[in-house]
Amino acid sequence: MRLIFDERQLLHRPDSYFRQGAFVPHPEQPERAILLRDRLLRDGHLLTAPRDHGLAPVLAVHDADYVAFLQTAWSRWCAKFEGDRPAVPNYHTSRRRGRRPEGVVGQLGYHATDTSCPITAGTWEAIYWSAQSAIEGAERLLAGEPRVYSLCRPPGHHAYLDSSSGFCFLNNAAIAARHLQRRYVRVAILDIDTHAGQGTQDVFWEDGSLLCGSMHLHPADYPPYFAGYDDEVGAGPGDGASMNVTLSRGAEDSAILGALDKLIAEARRFEAEALVVSLGLDMAADDPLAEVAFSSEGFAKAAMRIASLALPTVLVQEGGYLGPSLAENAAVFLSAIEGA
Ligand SMILES: [Zn+2]
Repeated sequence: MRLIFDERQLLHRPDSYFRQGAFVPHPEQPERAILLRDRLLRDGHLLTAPRDHGLAPVLAVHDADYVAFLQTAWSRWCAKFEGDRPAVPNYHTSRRRGRRPEGVVGQLGYHATDTSCPITAGTWEAIYWSAQSAIEGAERLLAGEPRVYSLCRPPGHHAYLDSSSGFCFLNNAAIAARHLQRRYVRVAILDIDTHAGQGTQDVFWEDGSLLCGSMHLHPADYPPYFAGYDDEVGAGPGDGASMNVTLSRGAEDSAILGALDKLIAEARRFEAEALVVSLGLDMAADDPLAEVAFSSEGFAKAAMRIASLALPTVLVQEGGYLGPSLAENAAVFLSAIEGA
């Protein structure tokens, strides 16, 4: 399978983040992408660097103010403060009566839901090329390739129209899905990360032309906490075009595959013409952030079920952290979807 990745995606190097009352090493490290890339190359997948498709496909999803902020935040932060500390917000707005301030500290909080998305020297380049990898994946489908794997890192599915969230800055899956609509009217996004794809859902909340299906650990006591509940179905023209299937802590293969079957049935009912898979690998039993226990065999079965839809498919890498089986699960998933 074609694997799309640009070395500049490694330039975002978050050091630590604040979790459960303490600063801990940041799990979203460039080594994730290196492990995935190297393993997939060893398996014979073909590496292609993305072309530069510019900002238009990004701006087809995200607010222009937010994108401009991401582009300039690091230089503005460095102009305001001495040293090279990462730019991390510590003031946030509820949006309801908040307004967008002028200074970089206030804008950091305005454009972030949490403190997990520090902006560092290479952040913009990394997230720009991560998005370009997703766009390149969509372009390859538009050119007739049946399936591609976009090794997006940093990930994207928690990012909103105008804010970062949960390690994510630009919503790569949403950008790829919107780009696919240049040809395909009805696009389904299936999110199989252990965390709800609430950012993607929010982007398309009122858009009935895309199905946003996500299965994940129930958010009542797990990130992203504020969305991803089973009764969220979209609104307005998008009413019925969002689907959330939640899992209990400790869920194993049978429950996880059962949840996936519900999403796949919905994609069939929706009559999707193309598919974006938000491929999180953090349901793995040994993932540092996992609280469910998906096996490598389970990942292979999931891939085969997704392949049974027989749709042009972009796999967009989302979560999956530095556990022992990270690269193995990616390899198993790609080989199963290709062999199906
Ligand atoms: Zn995740």
